[in-house]
Amino acid sequence: SEIPAPYLPRVSVFHYLFPFKKYKSKHRSRFLYYPDPNLEKPSFIDGLTGRFVTRGQVEEQAKQLATGLKMKGIEREQVGCIFGMNSLEWVNANFGCQALGAVVSPANYAYTPDELLHQMRDSTASFAFVQPALLPTFLKAIELDPKYTIPDNRIFLLCTKSEKEALIQKGGNEAEWMSRFLCSEEVWEKAGTPKRFQDGMEERTAYLCYSSGTTGKGKGVETSHHNMTSQVQALNCSYEPIKYKDVILAMLPFSHIYGLTVTLHHPLTVNGTVVILPRFDEIAFLKAVEKFKVTWALVVPPMLIALIHSANVAKYDISSIRGFMSGAAPLSSDLIKVFESKFSHIKLTQGYGLTETTPVSHVMNLAEAPGRDGKIGRVIPTYQARLVDQDTGKDVEKGERGELWLRGPSVMKGYWKNPSATDGVFAKGGWFKTGDVATIDNEGYFSIVDRVKELIKYKGFQVPPAELEALLLTHPEVTDSGVIGIYSKDQATELPRAYVVPKGGLAALPSAQAKEEFSRKVQEWVAEKVANHKRLRGGVILVDIIPKSPSGKILRKDLRARAVQEEEEK
Ligand code: AMP
Repeated sequence: SEIPAPYLPRVSVFHYLFPFKKYKSKHRSRFLYYPDPNLEKPSFIDGLTGRFVTRGQVEEQAKQLATGLKMKGIEREQVGCIFGMNSLEWVNANFGCQALGAVVSPANYAYTPDELLHQMRDSTASFAFVQPALLPTFLKAIELDPKYTIPDNRIFLLCTKSEKEALIQKGGNEAEWMSRFLCSEEVWEKAGTPKRFQDGMEERTAYLCYSSGTTGKGKGVETSHHNMTSQVQALNCSYEPIKYKDVILAMLPFSHIYGLTVTLHHPLTVNGTVVILPRFDEIAFLKAVEKFKVTWALVVPPMLIALIHSANVAKYDISSIRGFMSGAAPLSSDLIKVFESKFSHIKLTQGYGLTETTPVSHVMNLAEAPGRDGKIGRVIPTYQARLVDQDTGKDVEKGERGELWLRGPSVMKGYWKNPSATDGVFAKGGWFKTGDVATIDNEGYFSIVDRVKELIKYKGFQVPPAELEALLLTHPEVTDSGVIGIYSKDQATELPRAYVVPKGGLAALPSAQAKEEFSRKVQEWVAEKVANHKRLRGGVILVDIIPKSPSGKILRKDLRARAVQEEEEK
């Protein structure tokens, strides 16, 4: 489907969001969607403390940080990792790097040292911003590989000067760490003016978010400046755009492309106000909505479940909320119905996308769409979509299932330093193969009906099965494994489940009790070694053999069919 494209800027992310004075009037009418250039309006508010930065401060502090980083020898196109929960300092670190032209590689705060090291080493991060509470994980990660290091003077704390001082007062290990590193505020120097990007520079990489893509371990998704600015332009032309008056809740991690684009970048183009929470927490959410009169929030389906079952909702005034946008995972029609019957004043919309598409390609206005059935909506402006038969490579007939292929200015450049993985996901003509299977109805509404890639999603977070399988093979009592996702309706999410072949086969564990104990131990063993969202919450099932194709590929379809049967028999 072809949809007229909005104006697509050819500038850097920073210049797009904070245009220079001499370009401002022309620029504003094309890129920015707010009625007055009020620099005093809070752009980001810390939802726990109420501390805020105005639009003017976001720009000024970013330039100050960029100047300070430059004086420390950090240059354009060098990669910096940001490792922390959402915070005002995260915002500053991000836009400081963008003002400098450095590449931001944001890491999930739940990572274990191994997982963090993989991303930092793979992305060639040469400097980092770290939340003080996460320093033990961060320092352990760098110690794991003696050949990879980041010097202390290129590690910056994501906290204010006064928070740093308070931690030093506390004494102990924390005080020692705090004195070793500067916080971002201490790096600030009088602001210089970032250089405007030359034509062509906007194709350079701005972000490296990590995604497993269709297979294997996490890979750096190269999001260019143009990818990001085009996406934000498209969002402003699609359903239910946020507005100047909106107060937007940002509780999805900035480290995932969904939170990064939709809550960190997009609101600046309408000069909306963003209330930041470090993560989703029912009470913190309700308090923030009441206190800041939140009008719009970005959610994942399990958060809707939490609100439906919440005994606390009635104690807070949440009448200010006009709508939620749900994304990153399937939203079932049952869940939509239950939610809407309980919260009739909240309009639900759904978006679909991937890290590789910066992220949104489809948006559904659920209130107006015919036949809701959990559809993901129509293609948004700038994107084109095809549904392709995987075997023949030809477009399927209307109504039939096909792999969703996407094309548009927000499709990533490719996987960072990984041409073979990049080649694997692009087809002739620049079409990106999503690995999701979809159908389209007569009115152009798409539904996601299956996934041909390996990926599992737990509450919107990626769980790459290959990573868990590789880990399970290092367990001394395990000889083989296959990991899949099983869907839990109660929690509105997939849960990772492992099928495991114990050493010596099932015969080595004759009693039901021995089998149960083995499964539990494996589950606990994995839990100690991976980020919280990758735990085997769907259980560990013992088997004698993992179904494989003649070429040795795990037949996940067979495992999934088996899981469905097991669930039915329960
Ligand atoms: P990520 O790169 O982490 O954003 O994950 C992208 C994947 O999440 C997609 O390929 C889909 O499998 C899944 N996904 C995202 N949004 C939706 C949605 N609205 N409905 C169903 N699946 C979704």
